[in-house]
Amino acid sequence: MIPHSRLHITPEDEEAVARVIRSGMLAQGAMVAEFEKAVAAYLGVRGGVAVNSGTAALHLALLALKVGAGDEVILPSYVCVAPLNAIHYTGARPVLAEADPATGNIDPESVRAKVTSKTKAVIVPHLFGQPARITELQNLGVPVIEDLAQSIGARCHGRMAGGFGVMAICSFYATKVFTTGEGGMVLTDRDDLLDVARDMRDYDEKARYQTRYNYKMTEFQAALGLSQLQRLEAAIRERKRLAAFYNQALADLPCRRPTGIPGCDPIYYRYILRLDQDPDNFLTAMEKRQVACRRPIYKPIHQLLQCGDFQITDRLWEESVSIPLYPGLTDQELNHIIIGIQTVLDDNHG
Ligand SMILES: *Cc1c(COP(=O)(O)O)cnc(C)c1O
Repeated sequence: MIPHSRLHITPEDEEAVARVIRSGMLAQGAMVAEFEKAVAAYLGVRGGVAVNSGTAALHLALLALKVGAGDEVILPSYVCVAPLNAIHYTGARPVLAEADPATGNIDPESVRAKVTSKTKAVIVPHLFGQPARITELQNLGVPVIEDLAQSIGARCHGRMAGGFGVMAICSFYATKVFTTGEGGMVLTDRDDLLDVARDMRDYDEKARYQTRYNYKMTEFQAALGLSQLQRLEAAIRERKRLAAFYNQALADLPCRRPTGIPGCDPIYYRYILRLDQDPDNFLTAMEKRQVACRRPIYKPIHQLLQCGDFQITDRLWEESVSIPLYPGLTDQELNHIIIGIQTVLDDNHG
């Protein structure tokens, strides 16, 4: 079976983790601080606060922006439930927005229509490695939290995604662009927001009590992250090469291939095909051919919560499948996947 995601761990990664474990210093320390500096430098922002998940990073980002009960936070319906959970943790009310059909990302016009006097932030995931319409979203006058969980390294208008919003978050979960097993980071140019995030992630030895969290990352996770970060640009180049290969090989088939927005440089964390047939048939047929494909979003939030009318999101969900794309995919596997897709789409068509 060709998996939908695959880890890419080198002997250098293993050695970096082993060194930390041998050192006897396992909990948050110098390695975590170094990882924070390295990710912030990569993204061109002032600083980062490493945590144990992307969800925790979203939670701390919202707390740093003083989001709480009585506030509203806008998020897309077409995303996993992690941002929804983070909003719920704060007691704020989530407000769903519609998708941009070009990329599946949150639509600035829909956000504009949902802004009220209670809106404290908008969470903008750059899904599948494709940048959202970030400059339009920035101009709405609401603090933007960029969710880079699927798009670290993507660029918009020549600048790194993550440097546009007031804050950004990353996830380093096992199947993300690069990994620490579980992990995440809050990033921002503002020292006051970094201070809040740093304070809230750790409960011990605080002069004044308030409810805080244990969101700390371990030293060996940070070591793995640092080691993987060094290969990130090479990994992104490989992702782009594979995407170009798919673009060419799948050009004449009855499906639509990923389209970005003008001025943006995607990293192809996922390669999404839009089909004019039921994705379930496609997924089953591909599985029979030993290729694991997936719906890129398990279910839109408005469907899970059974609220609202989001027709573009429904349509995206009804059409979209994600096919394997990651560094380490061999030419043989690539050919097998392409022949599989050609056969399945042609069969179902004829
Ligand atoms: C994975 C993901 C998250 C959550 O990250 P975890 O590390 O799994 O908590 C948040 N937003 C998006 C867009 C994601 O893909």
